Amino acid sequence: MGCRPVLAIDSCHLSGPYKGALLFAIVYDADDGMFPLALGVVGSENYEDWYWFLEKLKGILDGQEVIIILDRHQGILCSVSELFGVENHAYCYRHVKQNFSSFFNRQNIRGKKWKEDALLLLDNIAYARLDIDYNEAFEKLVHFNGDLARWVAENSPKHWAMSKFLKKCWDKMTTNIAESFNAWLREERHQTIYTLLLMHMDKLVAMLDTYMRGTDKWKSMVGPKTKEKLMLNIMRSAPITVMPYLDKCTCLTWQMSGLPCPHVCAVIRTLRHDVYDYIDPCFKVSTQHLIYSGQFQPLPTHNMPKVCEARTLQDGQGNVFPSLQPSQVRRPPGRPRQRRIESQFSHKRAIHYYRCNGIGHNRSKCNNPLP
Ligand SMILES: [Zn+2]
Ligand SMILES: [Zn+2]
Repeated sequence: MGCRPVLAIDSCHLSGPYKGALLFAIVYDADDGMFPLALGVVGSENYEDWYWFLEKLKGILDGQEVIIILDRHQGILCSVSELFGVENHAYCYRHVKQNFSSFFNRQNIRGKKWKEDALLLLDNIAYARLDIDYNEAFEKLVHFNGDLARWVAENSPKHWAMSKFLKKCWDKMTTNIAESFNAWLREERHQTIYTLLLMHMDKLVAMLDTYMRGTDKWKSMVGPKTKEKLMLNIMRSAPITVMPYLDKCTCLTWQMSGLPCPHVCAVIRTLRHDVYDYIDPCFKVSTQHLIYSGQFQPLPTHNMPKVCEARTLQDGQGNVFPSLQPSQVRRPPGRPRQRRIESQFSHKRAIHYYRCNGIGHNRSKCNNPLP
């Protein structure tokens, strides 16, 4: 369809009369705009529901291999690897950072400055493109605090650190674009499912139309956001004396992001070539046209059905259907929790008995001789 094969997936709760949750998959258009690919209404967010949604999603992808960027609750974790392959599952880095941050808070390290430094080190680890830079950043974290470094090592960096993730993910590491979709759909969440879908369709068509016409304003072969990134790389490029082969760069930026890195820009300038010849086609205006060239198939219309005895429906041709029931929502017992459930890797705070200085027990289980 033209979009890069990277899907950001997220969910939100529905607060309309039927409750339940909305799961959705978003892709990027040629200029990093939000392109809603699929959404599904489910009763809750358990393994079966996620599996159902991801399986349907896989069905519309026509066998194309895709990268799935997704937070990692247990339910999602196994369904993604079963359906799309474990190596194609990227963990949303924003969520990883949040979990790292709450792990940091449990370490009893005081001072805001320390936390800022720790998060900066984590950024360096995550955004390093080369193994050598990853290792250097990791060593720094080891010196900073061994426990934090252990946390990183134990929390599968191969799913969220750029140098460790082996598939090309076009420099996309978070589900932020899905988050924008969530905000965009805020009003619809309070409606019934049917109204939600109708409102969504209306809004979606208007948005797709705007984006489709948006290419008229593109001043070059690529969109404004892509152009800005490209210009930045061109500005950073220093004159060069050695002429490398122009198919990849050892800094990996070109291969990973699809846009020529400053080094390649320097070479292109020296050769007096056109920089647009070196941009991946997925950023070009022709791709944008392709992405928005699709058409909605109108839903087949029916004559209004009659409600019959025994809660069945009868359409104009006399066919009888079971009547549509609202989705089953399993509401967990007790009051709804206020705080977000952390991903699976959270650790319990170790208890500590102050009199013997022992860890892992309190007064009732203490066997140590007291001073
Ligand atoms: Zn480079
Ligand atoms: Zn003790």
